[in-house]
Amino acid sequence: MSNSSICISCRKPKAETDCGVCGEGICRKCRLFQPEGSFSYWSEPLAPELTHVNYCGGCFDAHVGPFKARYDELMDAARKINVFYKDSNSLFRIIRKSVRMLEVSEVTDRDDLVMRMAFMTAIAGYNSLVDVEISSKKVRNEGYQTQVWSGRGWSADIKSKETASFD
Ligand SMILES: [Zn+2]
Ligand SMILES: [Zn+2]
Repeated sequence: MSNSSICISCRKPKAETDCGVCGEGICRKCRLFQPEGSFSYWSEPLAPELTHVNYCGGCFDAHVGPFKARYDELMDAARKINVFYKDSNSLFRIIRKSVRMLEVSEVTDRDDLVMRMAFMTAIAGYNSLVDVEISSKKVRNEGYQTQVWSGRGWSADIKSKETASFD
């Protein structure tokens, strides 16, 4: 494939794709690739600049870099969220609790469901999920029987010595 368009970064006439944001040509070597679904735990709509897969260095640094740093921080925080199920007999004291119940429905993987709830809790700035109830139902998918998981609970700040647990 010959393409004489100029790469915005290295200026060589080797551009093969366009940067999703600025539309300038970018060569394979300079292209920054952001796989689709990279920010899948982000439950709000993503800014349009974050939805592309190909970036030039400048646009990546301006848009994806800062967001990715925050997203990674939230993922770390989400992994540390304490999860207490409704029938848990752990002792803890609730300092404050979210006004609205958190609900996530029909996720194909149970751990992924809990992680989604934990991520939302991290965004809201709480340290725990309490009164968590998880249910599953069987669904048929192209002849296969499979399960989908739904969960609900409350984001809360608690005081306890418990460590994080997803089970
Ligand atoms: Zn280049
Ligand atoms: Zn660009």
